[in-house]
Amino acid sequence: MPLFFKSCCRYTVFSIAILREQPAATPNNRYLCTSMIPAWQTGIVKQIDQVTPYTRRFVVALPETAVFDFKPGQFVTLDLPIHEQRNKRWRSYSIASWPNGTNTIELLIVELEGGAGTKYLFNEIKEGSQLTLRGPQGVFVLPAELDKDLYLICTGTGIAPFRSMVHYIQQQDIPHKDIHLVFGTRTQTDLLYYDELKQLEQTMPGFHYHPVLSRQEWEGKTGYVHHIYEQLSHHNPPAYFMLCGWRAMTDEAKERILKKGYTNKDVHIEIYG
Ligand SMILES: Cc1cc2nc3c(=O)[nH]c(=O)nc-3n(C[C@H](O)[C@H](O)[C@H](O)COP(=O)(O)OP(=O)(O)OC[C@H]3O[C@@H](n4cnc5c(N)ncnc54)[C@H](O)[C@@H]3O)c2cc1C
Repeated sequence: MPLFFKSCCRYTVFSIAILREQPAATPNNRYLCTSMIPAWQTGIVKQIDQVTPYTRRFVVALPETAVFDFKPGQFVTLDLPIHEQRNKRWRSYSIASWPNGTNTIELLIVELEGGAGTKYLFNEIKEGSQLTLRGPQGVFVLPAELDKDLYLICTGTGIAPFRSMVHYIQQQDIPHKDIHLVFGTRTQTDLLYYDELKQLEQTMPGFHYHPVLSRQEWEGKTGYVHHIYEQLSHHNPPAYFMLCGWRAMTDEAKERILKKGYTNKDVHIEIYG
């Protein structure tokens, strides 16, 4: 069975992660055979960029790992010093970069009002700071074969895993059908990776980028993500739907996609909160 259809396992893997403490791993033994959960390691924050008023890009190097290997769509878990209880300190972040043979990854994080983890990340973490993290984790990854159209539907920082996927597809020259990246946000100042994805659209055959704004008129599309993918798939082509972001969006999208006649197997979801 392709990995794509095992999405329900993410929570199983995560709950095992909460229950088990992991001994330190050697550099060649990052995965421990008992549970396949990667060991904790130290990351060094190399660069921080404020990309929108509330969103920062963190470039993190992992000096204990020669090459950080992962599948586009996977995430890392940070252990932040924000609580006495270990599992209350853990926050997950999708890897926004793609596997490139180095030990450096990029995270895209939005500051959440009243959020303990993001308060720490935005106030305490500077370039040169250390982070404790483990990964890669998760099964929100590309289907084994891109033999149907692919709809990547997201809001806000939910674009992170999809940025990783589309660059990877292009760089690895993976055969694919049409790929529609539908990205919803409020205003032009909240657009993430806009120039980069516009550019990719010009150079990657079959890749279509659909940014949509819910609170500002502009030269592009307005409204919510839902009417965009519904219009694009109005003739119900064979398709995979991948949804990423906050639950309100993913719940509604799933309901609408199933109502169109697609099945649960066609829909794969990563919920941020
Ligand atoms: C697999 C996975 C990948 C993720 N990847 C990313 C990513 O790439 N970028 C990113 O920015 N976030 C991502 N998240 C969300 C992230 O893990 C944290 O939940 C988020 O940063 C908030 O943490 P916090 O400690 O600041 O807030 P908390 O202190 O945990 O939450 C404070 C309050 O806000 C509520 N809340 C928590 N999260 C949200 C939310 N997203 N929207 C609205 N209310 C919320 C909580 O219910 C709580 O009441 C991911 C989550 C998962 C499970």
